[in-house]
Parts: sequence; C-alpha cells; structure tokens
Amino acid sequence: MTEVELLIDAHAELGEGPVWDARANRLYWVDIHAGILHQYDPVAAVDTQTPLGEPVGCVAPAQEGIIAALKSGVVLINLTTGARTPLVGPEAHLPNNRPNDGKCDPVGRFIFGTMDDAEQDASGSLYALSPDGSCKTLVSHVRISNGLAWSPDNKTLYYIDTPTREVAAFDYDLIQGSIAHKRVVIKVPESLGWPDGMTVDVEGMLWIALWGGAAVGRFDPTSGTLLQKINVPALHVTSCTFGGPDFTHLYITSARKGVNDEQLARYPHTGGLFRLQTNVAGTPAVQFGATPITV
Ligand code: CA
Repeated sequence: MTEVELLIDAHAELGEGPVWDARANRLYWVDIHAGILHQYDPVAAVDTQTPLGEPVGCVAPAQEGIIAALKSGVVLINLTTGARTPLVGPEAHLPNNRPNDGKCDPVGRFIFGTMDDAEQDASGSLYALSPDGSCKTLVSHVRISNGLAWSPDNKTLYYIDTPTREVAAFDYDLIQGSIAHKRVVIKVPESLGWPDGMTVDVEGMLWIALWGGAAVGRFDPTSGTLLQKINVPALHVTSCTFGGPDFTHLYITSARKGVNDEQLARYPHTGGLFRLQTNVAGTPAVQFGATPITV
C-alpha cells in the first residue's frame, strides 16, 4: 500500500461521486452545487470540466454517455453531442431537496438518493430507476442519503444516511430491485468523522470516506470493525471508488465546504482529487441498463 497521491488540486467545494468508466478509461466525478461534471483521464493526467447548468448529485456510465441525477431530475447525457434525455423527476414537489449520492446496482438500475439541501429535514429518499423507466422509492425519511455498495454476491445492499453514523444493510432482491430486513452492520465512532460515500472490494470489505476525518476507512461489514485507516491530506473526504486497468486504483474525492482558514492551512489540498494504489481490487461500476432483467 503506497501513499495517497494528489492528482488534481481542484479546490472543489463539494467534490463527490467518483465513478470509473472502463470503456473510456476515465473517472467521472462531480462538484455538486457548482453543477460541474469532471472527467479525469489518468493517462494524459488531464481533468476536463463540463458545466451542467444546475446542481448534480451523481452520475453513472450509460450506453451513450452518462446518466445524471440533476436538481431538476434524472437525465441521460450524450457526452459527445451534449444532448439530454429526461427520464424522471420524482421530487418536483420538494424544491428544498437536491439529489446526492447514487450508482447503478449490479443489473443496471440507477439507485440515487436525495436530501434537504439545508441538512435539516429528513425529507430525502432513496430511489431505484429501472431501465424501463419505472421508478420506485426504496427508503424514505432520509436526512443525507449517501454511500451505496453491494456485497460481491449481490445479496446485500449497504447504505449510509450520514447523520446516523451507521452503515445499514438490507437483503437485496436483484430481480425485483427491492430491499428487506434492515440491520446496522457498522457504527462509525465520532473520532473518525462522518461516514459519507463508499465502495466495496472483491473481498466484500467496505471502503468508507470519512467527512471531517481526513481519511478513508476499510471496514469489515460482518464484524463491524475498522481494518485499516488510510489518511488523506484533505479534511472532508467525500467518496471513493476503484478504477484503473485492474481496479486497484482507489480514487478519492474531497470537499472544501465548511472548512475554516485554520483547517485549510492544515489541509491545503482539501477539495482535491486523490488516488491510492491498493493491494486488493475493487469491483467495476455497472452501466445503466447494462444487464437485461428476466423475471
Ligand atoms: Ca456524499
């Protein structure tokens, strides 16, 4: 395990949602309130920014570009032409909400969460959008819908509502796209910060970004224990995902939001994009609509 490497000193206000597109060998990530899609090409070491014109919670690879959870709703975006195809807008009646973390489930449904932008009300939800256009609510009364990950056997969904400081697990029905039997599998102690985004490795261990904790933690969801703490030179570590040719590059995003001058002096690269070479591989991101579902 090597040191965490600063790739782009992006000064992102709320850098989030890293996802690896294996087709293009690049990393997508977003700056939520700024409404910017970042595309990082690790071969050229170039980060390209695309303004989307409104807040963006998360993106995932889709057949011709990406699927994006925008403030106004979920859309497909063709990254070559810029053309957008609206899919669903489940919270047009909740103007104080915005989308937050999301990713595709193992068969290509887009699972995305929402939250009160003021972080006060439990007005958020977690939604599942199927490639056929149907959208259903998986979880209601969420405060800050955040990290999502599936166990390697696809039978368990892990989910973080940040203020709970817990990782919840649900039985996941891959055919129906439904959840059941909620239980708490990890309690993140206050000393580590707040659990934010997360990803999973091939051994089924969870890599959890620690907001305010300047670290990523590798946790065992069976025992609930912290196996390893990786220090990141940014205070608010927001999310992480595996990418690269063999999925052993852990890409890590961070945020400047709420960082004071003293904290910034200690963590000057807060808001940057980072990478860690790991000795365990992660699982590839799934493309929206990737796998036809047969019942
Ligand atoms: Ca987040």
